[in-house]
Amino acid sequence: MSDELVAGARAALADAVHALVGMQVEHVEQNGRQVPIPIDSLYDQLCEASLGERQDGGSVRRPEPGSRAPGWSDALSLLELIDRRVGEWSIGAAEVPGRAVTARRLYALADTAWAPEDVAYVRRLAAQVDSWAVRVRRLLDEEREWELKAPCPSCGEMVIAGQDGSGETVRQYVLRANLSGAECLSCGMQWAPEYYRLLGALIGAPTPEGILE
Ligand SMILES: [Zn+2]
Repeated sequence: MSDELVAGARAALADAVHALVGMQVEHVEQNGRQVPIPIDSLYDQLCEASLGERQDGGSVRRPEPGSRAPGWSDALSLLELIDRRVGEWSIGAAEVPGRAVTARRLYALADTAWAPEDVAYVRRLAAQVDSWAVRVRRLLDEEREWELKAPCPSCGEMVIAGQDGSGETVRQYVLRANLSGAECLSCGMQWAPEYYRLLGALIGAPTPEGILE
């Protein structure tokens, strides 16, 4: 009986750890079909989001400078909280900096042969890791921006030259959308989310291939 409780708690922790630091799968449309592609873990995406805090400006993902600032610092403080807490949970590792080893520490915790008296503790760890995964996902969704691979229904442009974070010239799609609106980087036309269906119908053309890598 207690073996089952230990196994259940370990499974819950393993699931939570996988949700936070395991590889994710996202479905994208390719040639009219939904195809699964592996993407970074939520934790890695959070790391990447938090970098925007320090290397400010110039990013192709930030049309309005500074508009994402609150999100970036939320990402950084959540990341620091996770690294610190996971460091506290891990045995004899306080002197090792968190970031690079947080994922490995979590997997090690999930792999630990916990004793029956640890069940409540392991359940608490699992609940905590789960809640982080939920928070990271919510934060990333708020920050997420989609490139719409179609010509702008207003000006007809599809790609423009822009600069990435390191100043390299890149070609990018003009239509951008996030949860609060869509806009064309070329002509400045904007659409509120309630017009997304209309916008989708207007740009319903098939996705062109090979324009951006
Ligand atoms: Zn336009």
